[in-house]
Order: sequence, then C-alpha cells, then structure tokens
Amino acid sequence: MAYDQDNIFAKILRGDVASHKIYEDNDTFSFLDVMPQSKGHALVIPKAPSENILTADTMSLGPLMTTVQLIARAAMEAFQADGITIQQFNQPAGGQTVFHTHFHVLPRFEGVGLKAHSAVMEDQDVLEQLAEAYKGVLDNI
Ligand code: 5GP
Repeated sequence: MAYDQDNIFAKILRGDVASHKIYEDNDTFSFLDVMPQSKGHALVIPKAPSENILTADTMSLGPLMTTVQLIARAAMEAFQADGITIQQFNQPAGGQTVFHTHFHVLPRFEGVGLKAHSAVMEDQDVLEQLAEAYKGVLDNI
C-alpha cells in the first residue's frame, strides 16, 4: 500500500485540517483523537510519512516512543488517571483505519471501560479543555 499524502493525519500535519494539538517537536506531533475512547485519548504520530509500523523508518521509532512516553506521563498527571493503555494498529485486518503511523495513548480509570473505536465525535469545547489540561502539564516538564 503506497502512502496517501491526503490521509487525514497528513492533512493535520500540514495544517490543512484543524486539530487539538498537545505537543510537537522536530520528529513527532501529538493531538487529541476526535472520537475518544477514554477521557484524554491522544494520538502520537511521526512527522515523516509512513503508513504504519511495518513500513516506518526504524530510526523514526525511537523519537516516536519517547513522545508516547511523554504523553502517557502527562496524561497520568493531567487527568489523575489510574493507568494508561497504549494501542497501535496495522493494516485493515489489524484494525487500522487511518494510514499514517500512529500510537493511541488512552488514559484509564478504575472501573471505566473503553468506548468503541472511532465511533462518537466529541464536543469541540470538551476537546479544547482536555488539550489545555495536557498543555498545562507539558509546559512544566
Ligand atoms: P486507527 O483505527 O487507524 O488506529 O485510528 C485512527 C484514529 O483516528 C481513530 O481513533 C479515530 O477516532 C481518529 N480520527 C479519525 N479521523 C480523525 C480526525 O479527523 N481528527 C482526529 N483528531 N482524529 C481522527
């Protein structure tokens, strides 16, 4: 499968589509999932184009995982989470729906299950508040 420059995450990276950005560095970008499966559900993506972890440049994975850990730690503090689930899907058979490499960072709370994947759009005001909560923590790391 060839990389599609018009996939939604490529458009977000180019700034062609708005997102609730929470973090960016030279190699990676992180923003909120618009159809969150838990409070504070974030996505972490490499800036370099690749469809998924099967085809991503191996050298891009170190910086990517560094940002995954950063966002996971920030989520624990920002939302007083009890734990974090990290998910990463590859190819349609693996559950992937957007074909730009990404990791899901899902804050978890005791006794609260995950909502359905890619199902219900969150209110923009709620996403804005959650993004501010992340940034409040990340600005102080
Ligand atoms: P995948 O199924 O490929 O692992 O995950 C893709 C994720 O992207 C889903 O959780 C879905 O909710 C999210 N998503 C789809 N379209 C958009 C969008 O336009 N903006 C944002 N922020 N997330 C999106």
